[in-house]
Amino acid sequence: MNKAQEKRPQLDLAGALDLAPAPERVPVAIKKRYGHFIDGAFVDGTDAEDFDTVNPATGQAIAKIATGTADDVDRAVKAARKAYDEVWGKMPGKERGKYLYRIARRIQERSRELAVLESMDNGKPIRETRDIDVPNAAAHFFYYAGWADKLAYAVPGGYSPKPLGVCGQVIPWNFPLLMAAWKLAPALATGNTVVLKPAETTPLSAMLLAEILQEADLPPGVVNFVNGAGKTGAALVGHSGVDKVAFTGSTDVGRKIMRSIAGTGKKATMELGGKGAHVVFADAALDQAVEGTINGIFFNQGHVCCAGSRLLIEEGVAEEFVERLKRRVEVLRIGDPLDKNTDIGAINSAEQHKTVCKYIDIGGQEGAEVWQGCAGDVPAKGFWVRPTILTNVQQSDTVVREEIFGPVLSVLTFRTPDEAVAKANDTEYGLAAGVWSEKTSKLFDVAHRLNAGVVWANGYNLFDPASPFGGLRHSGFGREGGIHGLWPYLGGWQ
Ligand code: NAP
Ligand code: MG
Repeated sequence: MNKAQEKRPQLDLAGALDLAPAPERVPVAIKKRYGHFIDGAFVDGTDAEDFDTVNPATGQAIAKIATGTADDVDRAVKAARKAYDEVWGKMPGKERGKYLYRIARRIQERSRELAVLESMDNGKPIRETRDIDVPNAAAHFFYYAGWADKLAYAVPGGYSPKPLGVCGQVIPWNFPLLMAAWKLAPALATGNTVVLKPAETTPLSAMLLAEILQEADLPPGVVNFVNGAGKTGAALVGHSGVDKVAFTGSTDVGRKIMRSIAGTGKKATMELGGKGAHVVFADAALDQAVEGTINGIFFNQGHVCCAGSRLLIEEGVAEEFVERLKRRVEVLRIGDPLDKNTDIGAINSAEQHKTVCKYIDIGGQEGAEVWQGCAGDVPAKGFWVRPTILTNVQQSDTVVREEIFGPVLSVLTFRTPDEAVAKANDTEYGLAAGVWSEKTSKLFDVAHRLNAGVVWANGYNLFDPASPFGGLRHSGFGREGGIHGLWPYLGGWQ
């Protein structure tokens, strides 16, 4: 027992947190099969080969999904072009804004269905879909609705901004509805039309969003969804009728897309991977920093591009901090994503589960001490990893350098602010970072020296539609959110 443990009375929590199951029971209508949403209608698609979307908490298929072919993409792009030329591109901003407000309100009205469906398809806890994903998706539409008739104020004075045309958007599986909202709301507010490809493992909330677009009477062709995997995404970004590509996903695929569109004149924004540093100084409010660290890495099972996956803790308090952290993590509830008491849901797919466990193994082989890991008490079916902490790691270790995209925290220490900054910035990524201290001058000094698109002080993973989000270096370029999120969808003044 170390000194910190001796000081505190050791409570026996066994049994104290055995809560009865509290499943969310809102019924959601799920079709047996989904094709695509093109020109305002649900269509079957031209390919006979369907794939399953799976509930990661059970491993069971939920529905069949069509694989979008180059022909499907072509139909969708043509519908988007026609809608742009004939309706949306010409509509006064004030009118466009009304549709966005309507979509936002309808998302709120159907929020419980959306939350349940997202938890089933993605594996994330209902507490998160209900309180974070869905409200934030509505908030993005509300926020950009307000900009639709004020675009002249978003660019340098004297210029009249113009939409770009048809946008090809490709999103990942970690925040399926929210990423769709981040992509659609600014594109629509600025007068562009869209073809969007949802991720292969999480297409269902986009299909419910398509119903919402119909209910909002959005003119046909303004938004089209083509389902499918990487090949469908490649056909979309490569289509000659696409004027702008907006991609969120891994750095590897981002690089491929940038190579494929080089020289075509297509505009692009890339929201890519990350390896966020979370710097905790000895003078921080340690219990709050423990909560912040947990929120930083275990929120959404660590399937978060800006996750604080590297904890940098000042040496003098490192032992005590890690002990407090483990004690808190031990009581997180892992299990049924539809249970309102669940903190940690399922890993999104069998493939991602394999990746996360492979990284934990590599960590162990390179000398890390692995706490929890892939074995242990988890539900019998589905894909699960207990929140994992790796100590005794070095800057050069694979688990410190590469994005794992799972509930795995690597713990490093530092002695001075300069060392903390040097270690935090020693990465090819630059998406997000966090810093904890009770001393404001230290917060400002360190925050300014961290190379990341977003830096949180005494908090982590805090989002607001009015605040820009995006990366530096291999984490990508362009911003989503805020006035900055309008610029990648506008031309006419640069
Ligand atoms: P991914 O493998 O890069 O896939 C992202 C999307 O691209 C999916 O819809 C995917 O289809 C599609 N795709 C795959 N190959 C393609 C190609 N050659 N051309 C066009 N599209 C292609 O990433 P992921 O595993 O879904 O998501 C995790 C990654 O996203 C992480 O690296 C994470 O950091 C990053 N991310 C970044 C942000 C940010 O804002 N910076 C936010 C969230 C996630 P499939 O569904 O079939 O794979
Ligand atoms: Mg799924």
